Amino acid sequence: MEALPEFQLHRPGTLDEAVALIKAEPNARFVGGGTDLVVNMRRGLVETPALIDLNNVAEMQGIVSDGTGLTIGGAVTLDALENDEIVAHAFPAVAQAASEVAGPTHRNVATVGGNLCLDTRCIFYNQSGWWRESNDFCLKYRGEICHVAPKSKRCFAVFSGDLAPALLIQDATVSVAGSKGERQMPLRELYRGDGMDYLTLEAGEVVTCVTIPNSDLKSAYRKARVRGSIDFPLAGVAVGVAVKDGRITDLRAALTACDTKPFLVSGLDDFQGKPVNETVASDFGEIVQQQARPMRTTMSTPWYRRRVVARLARRLLLELGTS
Ligand SMILES: Cc1cc2nc3c(=O)[nH]c(=O)nc-3n(C[C@H](O)[C@H](O)[C@H](O)COP(=O)(O)OP(=O)(O)OC[C@H]3O[C@@H](n4cnc5c(N)ncnc54)[C@H](O)[C@@H]3O)c2cc1C
Ligand code: SF4
Repeated sequence: MEALPEFQLHRPGTLDEAVALIKAEPNARFVGGGTDLVVNMRRGLVETPALIDLNNVAEMQGIVSDGTGLTIGGAVTLDALENDEIVAHAFPAVAQAASEVAGPTHRNVATVGGNLCLDTRCIFYNQSGWWRESNDFCLKYRGEICHVAPKSKRCFAVFSGDLAPALLIQDATVSVAGSKGERQMPLRELYRGDGMDYLTLEAGEVVTCVTIPNSDLKSAYRKARVRGSIDFPLAGVAVGVAVKDGRITDLRAALTACDTKPFLVSGLDDFQGKPVNETVASDFGEIVQQQARPMRTTMSTPWYRRRVVARLARRLLLELGTS
C-alpha cells in the first residue's frame, strides 16, 4: 500500500457549506468514514486535491422515526445503525447487514452514505499501483482492456455493499442534495449498473439520508465471505416475507455482490398464496440463482457465488417463513 498523498481536508457543518465546497472545488471528494476511499487513495485509484468530511453536517445525522417510517442520516455510522433498537426490531435485515460490514473498528466510523456509494470492486482493480501497472491496468482505471471480459468494452466490477439489499427490500428512498437543490429517488435508481460509472448521482451530489416506510415484513440478511470476521460479500442476499394464515402474502429478495449493482429479484409475485415449505423454498432459490450474474471479479468462481446465494436465500425463506 502506497503512502497517502497530500490533500486538503474540509469539515463543513451544514449541507449548504458542503455543497458550496464541492462547487468551488469540483475535483474534491466527499468522505464519510474513509474506510473505502482512503484505501483507494493509498492504492492510487483516487486522486483528489481535497476531501470534504461529511461527519459534522447537521442535516445528515440521526435515526428518526416519525410514525410512517424511519429516516437514517447519511452520516450515521454502521455501528449506530446496527445497535439502534428500532432498526433491530422493525428492520432486522438492515441491522444485520450493517453488523456484517468489515470489522468493528471500520463500523465505528463507516457511514450509511459511504456504504451505499461504495466503489465497485474487482480483483484486477483493488490492487496496488505496481501490480496494476504490471498488468497494463484495466478499463476501469487507466487501462484499455477488461481482464475479466477482454472482448467487452464494459466494466463488470461488482457492487459489494452489504446495506443496499437490506434497504431495497424495504422500498427505501434516498435523498440527495447538490448545487441544483435536493431531490429524492427510489434507492434502486441510485445504481446505474456500470462498473465504471456506477452511481446515477450528478457531479457534486451527496446522499443526505435514506427513508424506509413502516412494514410488516419479516426480514433477514446473509452473506458468504472468505473470512468470517471481516470481509466483503462474495454474494449477499436480503429476504423479506409476510405470511398470513400459513400462506405467503409478500415475498422480496435483493442481492449484492452478484452484479455491477445491487438489485431486487424479479418474478416473486407468483409465490403469493403459497405455503413456506422445502419445495417452495427450492423454487425461490432457483429464481435467485438464475438472476445472480457474477463475473470472475473475485477469487471465488461465479459458479460458486451463484449457488451459494441461492442456498442462502432458500434457507432464509425457510427460517423466516416457519418461525
Ligand atoms: C478490510 C475491509 C473490509 C471491508 N469489508 C466490507 C464489507 O464486508 N462490506 C461492505 O459493504 N464494505 C466493506 N468494506 C468497505 C467499507 O469499509 C464499507 O463499505 C463502509 O461502509 C464505507 O463507508 P465509509 O463511510 O467509510 O465510506 P467512504 O470510504 O468515506 O466513502 C466511500 C465512497 O462513497 C462516497 N461517499 C461517502 N459518503 C457519501 C455521501 N453521503 N454521499 C455521496 N457519496 C458519498 C465517497 O466519496 C467514496 O467514493 C471493507 C473495507 C475494508 C478496508
Ligand atoms: S471488470 Fe474488467 S474493467 Fe472492470 S475492474 Fe475488472 S478488469 Fe477492470
